[in-house]
Amino acid sequence: MSPHPMPPGGLPSGEASRNFAPQIQPDLAGLYGRRAARLRTLAEGHDHADYLRLAARVAEVQASLVPEAGGSGPAGARAILQQGHLGFLLDRLIERLAPDVPAPVATHLAVLRGLPDEERLGAAQALTLGRFDAVPAAIAPFLWAALSLQRASAVRAAPVPGCGPAEHASCPACGSAPVASLILTGDRQGLRYLHCALCESAWHMVRAKCTNCGAAADLDYLSFDTAEATVRAECCGVCHGYLKVISLERDRQAEAVADDLATLALDHAVTAEGYQRTGFNPFALPA
Ligand SMILES: [Zn+2]
Ligand SMILES: [Zn+2]
Repeated sequence: MSPHPMPPGGLPSGEASRNFAPQIQPDLAGLYGRRAARLRTLAEGHDHADYLRLAARVAEVQASLVPEAGGSGPAGARAILQQGHLGFLLDRLIERLAPDVPAPVATHLAVLRGLPDEERLGAAQALTLGRFDAVPAAIAPFLWAALSLQRASAVRAAPVPGCGPAEHASCPACGSAPVASLILTGDRQGLRYLHCALCESAWHMVRAKCTNCGAAADLDYLSFDTAEATVRAECCGVCHGYLKVISLERDRQAEAVADDLATLALDHAVTAEGYQRTGFNPFALPA
């Protein structure tokens, strides 16, 4: 692992600034499709190929459920949990996943399916509130996948809240923590957006500052490769937090959830250096 100099900061001028938006909500089916394809590519020769392929299958099923996710209604955590639609989505997700997963995973899915509605809602609520230890790790990612699909659909159906000039450490649409930040290409060339772990929104933050505390004074970029690595950990010496920065400029096929999940070895190395991750991956929820 090697430290690298800071990338250039601030808002770019020209083309990218004309396309500036404080918040982006990528088309859901397209996003899930790109994620699944990227996970399958990254699974080739990977130590955790089976898990990456399982995550790919979950993303494919999420894509297939977008038309059934419903979009209307409030996006607030409690309101969504009371609608009863989460149970419906979870049942569809389990039904479509079950034929394609290894036997031990199918067993966990059956347990999740058999839980009474109020227990499933209680578990979903615990995840929403960040109480990850309240839900068994074997079922949490599947529950999260249904919850995330529902929240992402609700957020897209509601008017985009104005998030003003302030830069947020957590998602301005739903309040969740980010997965990672992405450096974009195309008409948003060079802009940095954080990607929400729950509602799949992205929100802008200038580069070269800590996404957790905002400090720019003591940042280090750690990776296993060269300074040109696609995935680097942006580590802050002020709050000792870190989050990965994934560059689409360096690899146009990269995707926040997929590339983050395939580089968990970098998290182990960075954590061993004394930094704490300030976001999480939907397929690697905090213990
Ligand atoms: Zn969100
Ligand atoms: Zn910081």
